[in-house]
Amino acid sequence: KKLIDKYSYNSKVPILELLREEDQELKFLANYVYDKVFVNYTVKQWGLKPQDIEPQVTARIPICISRDNRYFTDKYQAVPKEGYTKIFERMLNHPNIKIVLNTDFKEVLSIDFDTKEIYFMGQEFKGRLIFTGMIDELFNFKYGYLPYRSLDLKFETIEKEYYQEAPVVNYPNDYDFTRITEFKHIHIAKSEKTTILKEYPKAYEPNRDIPYYPVFTKESQEIYNMYKEEADKFENLILIGRLAEYRYYDMDDVVKRSLEVFEEGIK
Ligand SMILES: Cc1cc2nc3c(=O)[nH]c(=O)nc-3n(C[C@H](O)[C@H](O)[C@H](O)COP(=O)(O)OP(=O)(O)OC[C@H]3O[C@@H](n4cnc5c(N)ncnc54)[C@H](O)[C@@H]3O)c2cc1C
Repeated sequence: KKLIDKYSYNSKVPILELLREEDQELKFLANYVYDKVFVNYTVKQWGLKPQDIEPQVTARIPICISRDNRYFTDKYQAVPKEGYTKIFERMLNHPNIKIVLNTDFKEVLSIDFDTKEIYFMGQEFKGRLIFTGMIDELFNFKYGYLPYRSLDLKFETIEKEYYQEAPVVNYPNDYDFTRITEFKHIHIAKSEKTTILKEYPKAYEPNRDIPYYPVFTKESQEIYNMYKEEADKFENLILIGRLAEYRYYDMDDVVKRSLEVFEEGIK
């Protein structure tokens, strides 16, 4: 009752806000949730304590004061009927699109940082360049390395029809993995076996790992801002995505962002 009186039913409260509660009972509750759900998970996922990471990160998983146990509450929720691979295959199957795989951008692209000229395969390129890689790598790490978090993704095939009851089950306190995803719940498939994925977070090591997540701290934001300022000096350079904008985007966010950028600056 106290919780509802203070925050109202159906509201979402960031854990760091709840922890600042003065009321003893609410404080007890906040500490309980923090200890059981947040602290170990955050350390496992980010390698940092919740206090050392920007509040926007822990705020992504708010405490919901309601009986709605969905993670996303969007009105419409769906995955592509034939999966994401088919969507991208069909989009990329266009005569104007040429795909070059297994090629680092530095093999085909170079930038003269003084004159702001961009070269593609040795020739000056005057069109618009859309870059989705790491912004610090684009500028040869001149302001230092931005921190990223990586993952070991381990798939397992299990000899039974279902492994767990939900598509994703989080393990905040036990084991080295953070969560197990069972895809059968998302793309309904009939099979006697099932495939699960365990995610083991780890520090990102350049040239060894895939950078999956930007790590938001005060210092990393400051470094990012310097790169952003540098990028803004280029008229034809468009940076989009998790790595290029150093933002935490979900699929829907990044699609929305791409459409916005297209409407504003490309069309
Ligand atoms: C484990 C995991 C689970 C996720 N689950 C969900 C989910 O359930 N729902 C959801 O909505 N979102 C989810 N996401 C987020 C989703 O994957 C991202 O929102 C989306 O991929 C972001 O798109 P992007 O274009 O910004 O980056 P990316 O998809 O990472 O694309 C960047 C591209 O740039 C390329 N690139 C990078 N560096 C170079 C280089 N040096 N040279 C050449 N190419 C380069 C990469 O190969 C990559 O193809 C998840 C992410 C992870 C890591």
